[in-house]
Amino acid sequence: MRIPISAVHLPAGVEEEVLAVLRSGQLAQGARVKALEDRVADLLGVAHVVAVSNGTAALVAALRSLRLPEGSEVVTSPFTFVATVNACLMAGLNVRFADIRTDDFALDPTSVAAAIGPQTRCLLPVHLYGQTADLPALRSLASTHDLRLVEDAAQALLARHGDRMAGSWGTGCFSLYATKNLTSGEGGLISTDDDEQAAWLRAYRNQGMVERYVYELLGENIRMTDLQAAVALPQLDVYDANVAARRRNAEQLRAGLADVEGLVLPAELPGRHHVWHQFTVLVEDDAPISRDELIESLAADGVGSGIYYPRLLGDYPHLGNDPRVVVGETPVAARIARTCLSLPVHPSVSEDDVDHVIRSVRRALDAVA
Ligand SMILES: *Cc1c(COP(=O)(O)O)cnc(C)c1O
Repeated sequence: MRIPISAVHLPAGVEEEVLAVLRSGQLAQGARVKALEDRVADLLGVAHVVAVSNGTAALVAALRSLRLPEGSEVVTSPFTFVATVNACLMAGLNVRFADIRTDDFALDPTSVAAAIGPQTRCLLPVHLYGQTADLPALRSLASTHDLRLVEDAAQALLARHGDRMAGSWGTGCFSLYATKNLTSGEGGLISTDDDEQAAWLRAYRNQGMVERYVYELLGENIRMTDLQAAVALPQLDVYDANVAARRRNAEQLRAGLADVEGLVLPAELPGRHHVWHQFTVLVEDDAPISRDELIESLAADGVGSGIYYPRLLGDYPHLGNDPRVVVGETPVAARIARTCLSLPVHPSVSEDDVDHVIRSVRRALDAVA
């Protein structure tokens, strides 16, 4: 594909950092993991960041750290990567889906309010594609109903709502998987302002050990390695520049596709700072060709695209039939899953590439300028 939907884009300093770790003999969790935690905590404006082996592990550990009674219910989005729901079930919690909004693709506070029941203990919004959910409304619901707030910010590192970062409203969970805005190949981060929760998480990721052979809780090994941290650290120096490149690409796509009928374009909502992990359009039912035909036509032009995500999680039988998962009616999410399509927006996409994407989309949708 001439213009892939995602590409790993590492700054020059990474090779040197990784070599330094290889030569140091300290390959497992050490000073570089600590440096990564401290830098991200500083950027997020939170007291603690705990690094773990991947984003799913971050979600499981964050949910377990709440120490909720087994079978407590988490209200979350059905339109997300499966890890969000896997993590709830793995942490011994039940799931109830609420519907999402078309403007931010995230939990709709009205639908969440209707979903909250006597067993609900936690809200788990997913900040999809790099923009936060409506955090002020969700936090206010959480405080009214005495619920915990865990944020799946895997796609939204340094996204903001007002002047507060994603992951700083509740317990934040981030992924450093290869396709994310910041990557260590595999990796995860948990953010919290709560000293006790952070101490619990540090013990949990390391077999429940608080000191060598002093085990205080049932933990596991989900540590990050210094090799992984060495891959991620230099990317923080260019993170803002990369988001600026994503933003330029998003603005160019929005301008070039604004008048195309049958296409709904994504927008940065007022008061929010989008980090443009994905640029996701909706190919409406009245568009001249179907979404699948558009994908094929783009591929023939060398333009990669992706469906994130093709089905609601409740539509997978092993989840939808699981008695711990309450699926309910989520018509907005269903429509979005049927019509969404992500176009290349990452920093390796040049201005000429974006022009090519725009021309290809317009030609396919009969909107030749
Ligand atoms: C990537 C991702 C995860 C899981 O992260 P991993 O590092 O792959 O385990 C969870 N939720 C969302 C929304 C994601 O995009």
